[in-house]
Amino acid sequence: MFASLRLDRRAMVRLLLASGALAALRGRAALAEDAYAGPFVDAHAHLNWDAGVTIDALMALYDAAGVRSALLFGYPWQLSADAHDRFAGRIVPFLAEGYANALHPDSSYVHPDGLEQLLTAGVVHGLGEVICRHSAFQLGASGGYYAEPANSVPADHPELIRAYQTAGRFGVPVNIHQEWFFAEELERAFQAAADTTFVWAHAGHGPAETARAVLQRNPNVVADLSARTPWIGPGTVLLRPNGTLDPAWAAVLDEYADRFLVGLDLFAPAHYQMGYVSQLVAYYRGLLGQLDPGVADLIGHANAERIAAFRQA
Ligand SMILES: [Zn+2]
Repeated sequence: MFASLRLDRRAMVRLLLASGALAALRGRAALAEDAYAGPFVDAHAHLNWDAGVTIDALMALYDAAGVRSALLFGYPWQLSADAHDRFAGRIVPFLAEGYANALHPDSSYVHPDGLEQLLTAGVVHGLGEVICRHSAFQLGASGGYYAEPANSVPADHPELIRAYQTAGRFGVPVNIHQEWFFAEELERAFQAAADTTFVWAHAGHGPAETARAVLQRNPNVVADLSARTPWIGPGTVLLRPNGTLDPAWAAVLDEYADRFLVGLDLFAPAHYQMGYVSQLVAYYRGLLGQLDPGVADLIGHANAERIAAFRQA
């Protein structure tokens, strides 16, 4: 039922785009008008001590851009715990470690007793983003230079698996960054902690078919669509230059509508600016607007609210 509605809309967009430049412009206008206007949960939000942003500043950006709430990766975790204290009901506090520090001797992931204490006290309600296999990257000059070398922590390292299992015992999700060419290793982790809900960050930056296969084989896994934009993920963008959603991705999002989340992946100091945040939100609202409204509602907010606990206190 949903599929035929969606195809009709996509067929309409295709017709508009097929009949010349003027019509293409109208097509883009039609897409903007069709943008998803429902609640928006940022399921991939960083609050790092050195990003030069406070939770108040981030929430002001969210308010202006129409973002309701966030799964917030605090590094150190006290940042997200404090954010939850100040904005209960809008923030789910996650515990994150530094970019290359997942297995550092001081990492919370490798200290099960301390981790259990934090989860028992309820001051954190998720783990991640756990950075495992990550390609080297650099962000350009606008707003400053930011770069990291490749990181190659194995996602199925026994100490990490123990942390994932601990999260599962407390019913809290784990967000993992692992690029798609290491998907097999990641799946071993998913299967070793089958009672844990995982979020595969950026859908692994991989092809739609890889995401579909991983979701199909692993019912405890959802995926976020963060960093699939022209601004942060060149080469992995979900929308074509004319604004239309890649058909292979449209099909997977429709098929696994209850398994995807949207996220902005703000992390570098230059990201916490109104122009950038509103541009990203518009991008994802435009993407969601090309899906069936029921699917857009799930991916825009309801899936995030299902896997994470937005507690009022
Ligand atoms: Zn990431």
